[in-house]
Amino acid sequence: MPVKGLGAVARAFHRPLCLEETAFRDPEPGELLVRMSATGVCHTDLHAVDGDWPVKPPLPFIPGHEGVGVIVKAGREVHGVKEGDRVGLPWLRTACGECEWCLTGWETLCPRAAYGGYTANGSFAEYALAPAAYVGHIPARLTDVEAAPILCAGVTTWKALKEAEVTAGQWVAISGVGGLGQMAVQYAVTMGLHVIAVDVSSEKLWRAKDLGAEITLNAREEDVARRVQSEVGGAHGVIVTAVSLTAFREAIAMTRRKGTCVLVGLPPGEFPVPLFDVVLKRLTIRGSLVGTREDLQEALSVSAESGVRSRIQTQPLETVNDALDQLRAGKVEGRIVLTMSQGSSVL
Ligand code: NAD
Ligand code: ZN
Ligand code: ZN
Repeated sequence: MPVKGLGAVARAFHRPLCLEETAFRDPEPGELLVRMSATGVCHTDLHAVDGDWPVKPPLPFIPGHEGVGVIVKAGREVHGVKEGDRVGLPWLRTACGECEWCLTGWETLCPRAAYGGYTANGSFAEYALAPAAYVGHIPARLTDVEAAPILCAGVTTWKALKEAEVTAGQWVAISGVGGLGQMAVQYAVTMGLHVIAVDVSSEKLWRAKDLGAEITLNAREEDVARRVQSEVGGAHGVIVTAVSLTAFREAIAMTRRKGTCVLVGLPPGEFPVPLFDVVLKRLTIRGSLVGTREDLQEALSVSAESGVRSRIQTQPLETVNDALDQLRAGKVEGRIVLTMSQGSSVL
């Protein structure tokens, strides 16, 4: 028997989501039906809803990939979780489990991967279906609302810091200290790194300072790359989460000789790579996409144990369009987490 509940459905790009009563079918073998209680709103949801990227999500779809909820029905052949367990629904919804990337612990790169809230319906709803083998397991110390942003902002920046190949005592620059960048600053501090935060918003930079950034730079007011080079000789690792192409060029110029610049943000378009800098300084420029299931469990545990949390503003699922507008206007300081009352749902 399908259940009914509220879903926020994208029916056209660049239009408000439609809040509709939606039917959620029974879980298939290996699948879970999850009653959602909280979901973070990532800038990727905005790219999805606006149809920003070259490969667009098939319409109609329900966005959302930072969902937390309780399993209400488990399909046959589900192992490791059961009805009543609290789980997280991340961006990496599933992968094939058989290709060279899946077999070597790089399931995020699987060509047959499905993405929650993009190629499949996501968590902006009172219920969602999810393959059991790919859900996150939420540590008891995290509330649903606290756990939600870790499902994407947390795991993505935790992984990006690992990909930056930096060690305690070195400098890392985080360009863009919004939803993702704020988590990156905190994880970096926890890892014993010296942190430089770069943004175009002074409020976000104040917050980054509060969270432990030693140097904060406003890219609207100064030549940030020159400052990073003159103050610390360049950052050993740079993580770019900024939704701005100019920030990517600046990030490469901030990188120290032999350093690594990790590209995470996904503003549509291209940016020029300064070939002479890359070759003569032996720079590594590397993309990084969310994280594997292992990275996700690490990010959740580190947050649970060390207190790394988003600055969270909660509001009801029904206000999802307002949340997207705030994000579009750059007004969200950390993460908006939508909460579900389940008042209108029927089992
Ligand atoms: P956000 O809107 O919360 O934060 C973006 C930040 O970039 C803001 O603080 C903004 O002020 C800042 N910014 C804008 N222009 C800048 C500039 N020129 N220099 C420095 N900072 C600047 O967004 P978010 O949720 O943190 O997502 C950020 C980006 O990361 C999005 O493009 C999103 O799609 C992408 N993303 C990628 C992955 C991945 O796996 N690679 C995962 C999640 C999100
Ligand atoms: Zn995301
Ligand atoms: Zn695969």
